[in-house]
Amino acid sequence: MPLATLRQVLDEAAKGGYGIGAFNVNNMEQLQGIVGAAEEVQAPVIVQCSRGALSYAGANYIRHMIMAAAEDSSIPIVLHLDHGDKPETCFMAIDLGFTSVMMDGSLLADGKTPSDYEYNVDVTRQVVEAAHAKGVSVEGELGTLGGIEDGHGSGEVHLTDPDEAVAFVHETGVDALAVAFGTSHGAYKFAQEPTGDVLKMDLIEEIHRRLPDTHLVMHGSSSVPPELVAQVNQYGGALKPAWGVPVKEIQLGIRHGVRKINVDTDSRLAVTGAIRKVFAESPEKFDPRDYLKPARAAMQELIARRMEDFGQAGHAGDYEALSLEEMREGYAAATAAA
Ligand SMILES: [Zn+2]
Repeated sequence: MPLATLRQVLDEAAKGGYGIGAFNVNNMEQLQGIVGAAEEVQAPVIVQCSRGALSYAGANYIRHMIMAAAEDSSIPIVLHLDHGDKPETCFMAIDLGFTSVMMDGSLLADGKTPSDYEYNVDVTRQVVEAAHAKGVSVEGELGTLGGIEDGHGSGEVHLTDPDEAVAFVHETGVDALAVAFGTSHGAYKFAQEPTGDVLKMDLIEEIHRRLPDTHLVMHGSSSVPPELVAQVNQYGGALKPAWGVPVKEIQLGIRHGVRKINVDTDSRLAVTGAIRKVFAESPEKFDPRDYLKPARAAMQELIARRMEDFGQAGHAGDYEALSLEEMREGYAAATAAA
């Protein structure tokens, strides 16, 4: 069916009191795993592409692939740009037909150096003006997460200041706001199981209390399940012990206004564990389908479970998404403009 916008699905999620996972896609098998999971549990879904994904697969390639998934599918799909580094990248995604973009002005355009507040407001507001004129939603970020993701990140943590968050939302008009409250990108988020000292849930609560109509976004929200790490290592991997964000902490966040939950590392672990298992157990196999099929199934199983965890399962019918015809018209217009 249909592409939906981030605003549409997060507004419904807020009414229903649930969260929606945003899963990163780089290739066909990952996309099919994500959309397969959404169909299996009848959930709306956010499919997101980083700049790294766009350069890996090719922006046009990935766009056609996701449009094909949307045409063949019965569930609402949001096509979202993850961590846009500058307004031009967001404008490109909007022209390609993305229904949602993230302008991450918390860092300068190098994707590494923390910016100042004025810069962040300026670039984010430019994107909101252009995006909203075309019906596209915008996610901003205030504060910086730890960790590095696809070469993106300062490696430093700056927790989001609630006063600044209120001013930022009013000055930019973003639909959703990524907040830094102790999570980080990548597999090695914490040196031990995170406690209340590491994840500042009270910060989420305060920001939500002061911005009840802004949808909050949790980045770096993989849970890094020990059994997935163990499977990778059992079949020849060399991952160090790692702790992610416990599902119960994410669920607590959802009760306090978190609506979009970014998960990437867990998918990577599921895919790699499945492929390593085939290589180790059946070294005679060399048809890519022999290992990509189980990889796709492992990703689907993981994501279906997360969709249950976040509460989005069963909510695919809540949305008045774009009709196929409207989607095609938008697609044609975007193609003509490109
Ligand atoms: Zn992120």
